[in-house]
Formats: sequence, structure tokens, C-alpha cells
Amino acid sequence: MDRVEAVVVGAGVVGLAVARALAMRGLETLVLEREIAIGTGISSRNSEVIHAGLYYPAGSLKARLCVNGKRQLYAFCESHGVAHRRCGKLLVATDAEQLPGLQALQAQAAANGVDDLVLLDAAQARAMEPALTCLAALWSPSTGLIDSHGLMLALQGDLERHGGMVALASPAQAVRAFPGEHVIEVGGDQPMALAARIVVNATGLWAPALAQSTAGLPSSARPTGRFCKGNYFSLAGRAPFSRLIYPLPQRAGLGVHLTLDLGGQARFGPDVHWLADDTQDPIDYTVDPSRADAFYAEVRRYWPALPDGALQPAYSGVRPKLVGPGEPAADFRIDGPAEHGVPGLVNLFGIESPGLTASLALADEVLSRLGA
Ligand SMILES: Cc1cc2nc3c(=O)[nH]c(=O)nc-3n(C[C@H](O)[C@H](O)[C@H](O)COP(=O)(O)OP(=O)(O)OC[C@H]3O[C@@H](n4cnc5c(N)ncnc54)[C@H](O)[C@@H]3O)c2cc1C
Repeated sequence: MDRVEAVVVGAGVVGLAVARALAMRGLETLVLEREIAIGTGISSRNSEVIHAGLYYPAGSLKARLCVNGKRQLYAFCESHGVAHRRCGKLLVATDAEQLPGLQALQAQAAANGVDDLVLLDAAQARAMEPALTCLAALWSPSTGLIDSHGLMLALQGDLERHGGMVALASPAQAVRAFPGEHVIEVGGDQPMALAARIVVNATGLWAPALAQSTAGLPSSARPTGRFCKGNYFSLAGRAPFSRLIYPLPQRAGLGVHLTLDLGGQARFGPDVHWLADDTQDPIDYTVDPSRADAFYAEVRRYWPALPDGALQPAYSGVRPKLVGPGEPAADFRIDGPAEHGVPGLVNLFGIESPGLTASLALADEVLSRLGA
């Protein structure tokens, strides 16, 4: 049987960040990716926003790793030439009932260590974005945009420079977790068993499924995953905005916001569309054009001049949830030896937004749970 010191399953942004960190610690590291390219999962189906860290409960993993990850990510982009833009965002209240929500968010952000928010009145917000309609807004200057694929390529580059590698078309089908060494059954054209002292399950939407196929884990360490699709519509023509515009957050998402790509093209989304609990691969990522009606209504709250017919179905992504509709949001779940009792094994569950922003900090957290 082939042996390697560390195996990371999943070559999304989180798996690549973890693998890079392990390789930089001097561990021989292999990433198993079931697809024929890196980053075709959640990491290529998101808003590509570098979040400031406003929303999450103080002390949660999401709060801590988002704020820390944001700092690391901007520095990484600078040092590795990853395209990004610190464009900032306006979080808007469009009716009087939402005004206390803005203040609550400012307080939440401060508790999370984000102290650069500025509360603006309608005139100040409009001076920044003349097409915007709102009663008040929070200005977040440290929110930005990133080329997520460029980030993943840079992470892979660092991994490979430190002796690691990515094996494509190599699905992990099962893991047998043993105290000193784990065995991974790898499928694909040349099925094989691989032994490793460290195994990190970073398979995004499919992490609960791989945990189910992991022998040696207690049942409490095998959560049920839920799937919450988010659809995007793009704007035909140029948007009259140069900053990101967000409504107040909803329970399962951040609300239908306006984001821009690095070329300035606008898109709106993601909405909230729960999929069945028994959803299987391949996921249907088609965007149903009839969902546009709800988008027009939501966007016109802050941009009443959105022209009829301007929205076109664009793409969708699926959030890896640990809770179902109507339940309070869950934190990231990082199950390491302290949680499940198996040395050398980490399962990453529920790595939804802000997982892209937090990716480098998530990697540090995984290494610390492993004692690596
Ligand atoms: C709609 C939406 C919008 C978002 N917007 C933002 C945002 O603006 N900012 C932000 O910070 N975060 C955002 N996020 C969150 C962010 O995109 C994710 O947290 C992050 O991309 C998760 O990366 P990952 O590596 O965990 O998962 P993935 O990118 O899905 O990677 C998992 C990989 O594992 C592979 N895999 C699965 N099973 C196996 C197996 N058995 N064997 C081998 N390989 C396997 C998959 O093919 C995939 O490549 C958003 C998420 C969604 C859904």
C-alpha cells in the first residue's frame, strides 16, 4: 500500500489552503480531487466577496476566522499577484423598521473586531452611489472582491513548491480511521488504497457523506448535511454602482445583493432555495428564469430604476448547511481529535460563507487541531 504523511480530500479553496499549510510545515502532502480540475465545487460558485466579518456571533469560528482570514487574504493577494479589489460595500436599510438592524450590525461588527464601519445617512450614501435609494447605510471599507480561481491556482502553486501535489480524478470513496494511520480507498481509473497519518476531509457539500463512509468515527461525528441553493442573475448592461450593495441579512443567506466582478459587471444574488435532504450528485445548477420576479422586487428596494428585462439567469451555487429552513444559522464545524477522539483526522462541515474569505485562517485552525 502507498503511504503519504498527509492526505487532504477535496481541491476547493479550503482543501488547497489546508494542503498548502501542511506542505509548508514540511509534511509530504497529497490532495485527492474527484473531478478533473481543481475548484469546480462551491469555490467556483459564489459571490467572490472578501467579507469584513460583520454578521457572525462574537466568538464564533465564522467571526474569528473571517476577520483573521480577511487580513491574511489581502496580504496573500498582494504577495502572490492574485487579482482583487478593496471596493467596499454599503449595507442598506430601505425602510424605518430596518434602521435598528443597521445599528445592531455595527455593534456586532465591533464585537468581532471590525471597527472601520461608518453609519451614513441617506444623503451621504447617495453621494457615494447616486443610483441608490435607502434611508441609511453602513459603509464597510474593508470588504472587497477576489478572483477565486486565481487564489486557488496560487495556493496550488505554493503547495507544489513545497513538494505537495494534487491528484485529479481521484475520488476518496471510504476512509478507515485507525489511531496511528488511516486508510483511504481511492476510486477512479486506478483504484488503490492509500495510508496516511493525517487525513483532512475538505469535500464541501459531500463532507457529511464522506464522514458516513469513515469507519471508526462515533455517530455523533457524522452530521446530516443540508443543501441550500443560491441563484444569481446578471445585469444586462453596465451597473450604475462601483461598490457592493447589500440589504440586511436574511436567516439563511445575506440577502439578494449586488456584487460586481473584477471587470465591473454586476450580478445579483444569491437567493435562498432549499434542496431536498437526499440530493445526490450531480446537482442541478440550472437557474429557473421564473425566479427573476422575486429578484426584481428585492433589488428595486434599493435600486428602483432597475429596468424591466435587465436581469438574466446567470449561475448558482449550493451552500453546505448543517441546519434546515427556519433554524438559526450554524457555525463552521471543525471536527478534530478533541471532538471525535481519532488522532490525525479532521472533518470540515458546514463551510459555507465566509469560507472563501476565511480559507487561510481555516487552514491555520485545522493545523492547530491536528497539533501539526
Ligand atoms: C452561493 C454562495 C455564495 C458564497 N459567497 C461567498 C463570498 O462571497 N465570500 C466568501 O467568503 N464565501 C462565500 N461562499 C462560501 C465559499 O464559497 C465556501 O465556503 C468555499 O468555497 C468552500 O470551499 P471548500 O473547499 O470547502 O468546498 P468546495 O469548493 O466545494 O471543494 C470541495 C472539493 O471536494 C471535491 N470532492 C467532493 N467529494 C470528494 C471525494 N469523495 N473525493 C475527492 N474529492 C471530492 C469536490 O469536487 C470539490 O472540488 C459562498 C457560498 C455559496 C454557496
